[in-house]
Amino acid sequence: MAELARRTGAAVLPLDCPVILTSEADRRHLPESLRAEAIVLAPAALTGSAIQLLISPQPEPRRRPALPRFPYHPNPVATGSVTTSDVPCVCCGQERGWVYTGPVRSVGGPDSGICPYCIAFGKAAERYDATFAEAIEGDVQKDVVTAVLRHTPGFLAWQSPTWLTHCGDGAEFLGLAGAKELERYPDAVDDLRRRCAEWAWPADEVEDFLGSLDKDDQPTAYLFRCRACATHLAYADST
Ligand SMILES: [Zn+2]
Ligand SMILES: [Zn+2]
Repeated sequence: MAELARRTGAAVLPLDCPVILTSEADRRHLPESLRAEAIVLAPAALTGSAIQLLISPQPEPRRRPALPRFPYHPNPVATGSVTTSDVPCVCCGQERGWVYTGPVRSVGGPDSGICPYCIAFGKAAERYDATFAEAIEGDVQKDVVTAVLRHTPGFLAWQSPTWLTHCGDGAEFLGLAGAKELERYPDAVDDLRRRCAEWAWPADEVEDFLGSLDKDDQPTAYLFRCRACATHLAYADST
């Protein structure tokens, strides 16, 4: 249709939409009632998708409120643990524009549909006696354990999601990583090697394992950064 209009200079009259003209001069030929609204598209710009766009204008992207600050999971949108949603939160009933998509560990609580604000402010943890990660590694103060497990969005892991700690504090979770992503974080690879050594694997097996890590497939590494000294840390699914 666009092609035809382009070649012949014909006007396009979509139903219930403004008329599309290929020249301003054509406006005066239109019936009075259609004149004001008519849109002029130069022939070069008159494509099928341009017509499609005019017929069904795309909704303005919705402005969403800023996410609460999660000290142990600084960018839950980038890690995939929080995503956009126009559905009201199952916990607070408010439509916040965001929903948590990670694991919820609770007896009888909802599996999904919780907004990140209910996680940040502790409402979901309290209401459902929920945690969002399975375990925290290492010896840290009780308030850190509470903040990490109950007030921080968790992440989906192939095996049990565990939160790493360093310098006496919970580390910040940066996301899933494979061998390729880990190239940038030699300190994280050292940390993985150290963990593999605890499994008492032969060195060549450890290197094979590290090389086989895949962001999108098992085994995957889980990348963290210490909030105090910025050392990168990682653990991986065991095979
Ligand atoms: Zn909520
Ligand atoms: Zn540290």
